[in-house]
Amino acid sequence: MLTEEIQQIVSQYVMNTYDRLPLAITRGRGCHVYDAEGREYLDCVAGIAVNTLGYGHPDLVAAIERQVRHLIHTSNLYYTEPQGQLARRLVEHSFAEKVFFCNSGAEANEAAIKLARLYAHQHYGPSRYEIITMVNSFHGRTMATLTATGQTKVQEGFEPLLPGFTYVQLNNLEALEKAVSDRTAAVMLELIQGEGGVVVANQAYLRAVRDLCSQKDILLIVDEVQTGMGRTGTLFAYDQFGIQPDVMTLAKGLGGGLPIGACLAINKVAKVFGPGTHASTFGGNPLACAAALEVLRILLEGGELERSRETGAYLEKGLHALQERIPLIKDVRGMGLLQGIELTIDGKPIVMDCLARRLMINCTMGQVLRLVPPLIIQIGEIDHLLTVLSDVLTKRLNNTKH
Ligand SMILES: *Cc1c(COP(=O)(O)O)cnc(C)c1O
Repeated sequence: MLTEEIQQIVSQYVMNTYDRLPLAITRGRGCHVYDAEGREYLDCVAGIAVNTLGYGHPDLVAAIERQVRHLIHTSNLYYTEPQGQLARRLVEHSFAEKVFFCNSGAEANEAAIKLARLYAHQHYGPSRYEIITMVNSFHGRTMATLTATGQTKVQEGFEPLLPGFTYVQLNNLEALEKAVSDRTAAVMLELIQGEGGVVVANQAYLRAVRDLCSQKDILLIVDEVQTGMGRTGTLFAYDQFGIQPDVMTLAKGLGGGLPIGACLAINKVAKVFGPGTHASTFGGNPLACAAALEVLRILLEGGELERSRETGAYLEKGLHALQERIPLIKDVRGMGLLQGIELTIDGKPIVMDCLARRLMINCTMGQVLRLVPPLIIQIGEIDHLLTVLSDVLTKRLNNTKH
């Protein structure tokens, strides 16, 4: 099928919940994807920070093929080795002691919310259930996670929302201190608000939040669905903020493209979950776990994480150089290979201009271009990205002057 036919069939039969670009992707290789007409694009969206190893990574493909032949799924009525191996590796490389597996970021956050409520309920009784989240956060689209999300645009029309959530501004300690009460069970936040415009949490603020939570036995839940799995230059972003959460959620990059989510916690918290308190039919299925295990191996032992630190620094430097030259760029912020470019103009036309130049980028919060390329991106590809961005923005700048 050609792009137009694919577009037509999807529009006719799939519910209209996405604002899609006019591009139908059929395959990928490295950091490039190909459309139905065979045209090549440099992909700096990577399935929204999911395809950390790009497309067709030979080791990942081999690991998935091997597992497909053995066993795709069997449910959690039984034990499977990949699930245990993956949990062990995640625990070995993080603050956590136990893992719950699910299939998406929203589900990982659902698990974290349930865990926090149950922990507070068991330790302090039924009146302690409130979760404080941040304005402009994003935690998912299920009823609990859209309630946790501090953006009215994802909540409108779905009221009544789940009770027990309050919102404060990120990086404002005083606001958080005021919001905390005897009812507070947890504070939930992203270290970089990815969907919220690539806004980075302040390190001193986070340390104060950590202290406040520890003093009052309030759980600190860090949503690393987007920042986790090497995206920011370390396996998890919290490594760079000098704090340890009590609960952390993962999804996007975890399975290298296969759907998998995880909620990690310290023992003290994890142990409130017992048989029947939470579950997922697909959660931790052997195929997704085998893929995630291989992703971890390639990042850590294959040296990809190390290499991505250099490319991330190179990208950051290049973007700051662009900012010096192009007044349409108001701010450049982010960490590693999660970078945001705040513009003084609407970002959508820039995304379209880049697409016409066969470069895929993304835009959040209207004016923030978001770059989340595969972690395997090469210096030459970053140079190309910077050239196209420079051309496109310079052209817009010249047009707006006339
Ligand atoms: C994408 C995202 C989610 C939601 O993940 P889904 O897999 O779409 O449910 C939650 N939190 C953060 C920080 C995200 O970036």
